[in-house]
Order: sequence, then C-alpha cells, then structure tokens
Amino acid sequence: MQGKIDAVLFDAGGVLVLPDPTVLAPLLAYYGASIDHDVHARAHYAGMAAKSASTAGENDWTQYDNVYLETVGVKANVREEALHVFGRVKGVANLWRHPTAHAKAVLQTLHNRGVPIGIVSNASGQIEDTLRQSAICQVGEGPLAPVRFVIDSHIVGIQKPDPRIFHIALELLPDIDPSRIAYVGDSLIMDVQGSRGVGLVPVLVDPYGFAEGHDVHRIVSLEEVVHFFSDK
Ligand SMILES: [Mg+2]
Repeated sequence: MQGKIDAVLFDAGGVLVLPDPTVLAPLLAYYGASIDHDVHARAHYAGMAAKSASTAGENDWTQYDNVYLETVGVKANVREEALHVFGRVKGVANLWRHPTAHAKAVLQTLHNRGVPIGIVSNASGQIEDTLRQSAICQVGEGPLAPVRFVIDSHIVGIQKPDPRIFHIALELLPDIDPSRIAYVGDSLIMDVQGSRGVGLVPVLVDPYGFAEGHDVHRIVSLEEVVHFFSDK
C-alpha cells in the first residue's frame, strides 16, 4: 500500500469510536457478561463480522446484538432481557463515542504528514460533535487533529453503501484520483463493497482476524494506515 495512497477517508463507528464499554460493560455485567473492555471491543468486531455474513441491511442489528452478547458472555437464561436492554442502550447513537486505540494519534500523524483526511459515517446527525467531544478530531484547524470534512448520513440523507455518499466525499477531494484514496472501515458490506464500488481502495479494520480470507486489504491496527505514507 506504501506509495499508492494520497488521501484517507475513515468510517467512524468501529474505526475511530466504539460503543462505549464504560456504559455497556456494567450494563451487561448484570447478565453475567465480562467487564473487560478488550472483550467488549472483540465483541464489536465479532458482531460486525456476523452482520456482514448475514448480509443484513445497515439498520438490522439482530446478528450483531446476538453475537456481541454471546462474545461478552451473557448467560443464556437472561439472554432475551439482555438483548432488549442492550439493543435500546447501544441504539443511542451518542454512545458510539469511546475512542479506539491510536485513533487520535493516527489522525494527527496523517495530518502532520500533509495527508488529506475525511470522515464518511452512517450516523444520526451527531458524529461530528461526538468526534470532537471524544477528543479525536475536528473539521478544520483547532486543538485536535484537523480533518477536511465529516459526512454524516443522517445530514446528507444517504447511507453507505449507496455510492452517492462516497461521491459527496470525492467531490470534496477533486484533485485526487479515487484509486489513490483509501477508505478505512469495519464492515465488509457498507464499507468495503461500498467504497470499492466507486473506485476507492477499501481497507478493513479487522483486529481479530474475523475477515480472514476475504479479498480486501485488512489491518489489525489503525497505526498501519500511517505506514501507507512512510515514504513521506
Ligand atoms: Mg463502522
């Protein structure tokens, strides 16, 4: 990938932020779940892999929720109640706010190297504020890592994997060939298929290897994105 990429677009959920384990861990501990934040991170990626494998639509979280609870160890006899509670709480978009490892540092390093950065997220109108409040980035200059834009599906009225949401981003990077722009996401359908469909270079965040064997450039850590530019 080194020398092949000139700009990077990021998904937000599962890439820059995760559903907040400081809320979800104690919530689900009542049902027997682990309170280890790493276990909850693993549960997110396991859930995303199951969601992709089921080819569920973006708004169908059934598979994700089931696999998340299974991964964190919710007891079978309280599973239905836990699913109800988890679905309601995780469904609050603002709780997708816990910074992933290296998110802030990676965006800052990319910016320092002059790499144009943008965010394209299926969200609920909140994600630009959340990324700022979680001290990850802001649009334009400021105390955090600057990004050129944050495209929120709720605000533009188009969700990934619809190509039109990616085209909005491409219009904001008019001087860069799409084949030299990476799209970093955590969903094989919304992110990989969606971005590939408009000629971007998909990169899948797959820290636990759940997508092994799939035809996509997989990264274990966001830090690997910096290595795309190690010649700069
Ligand atoms: Mg995502």
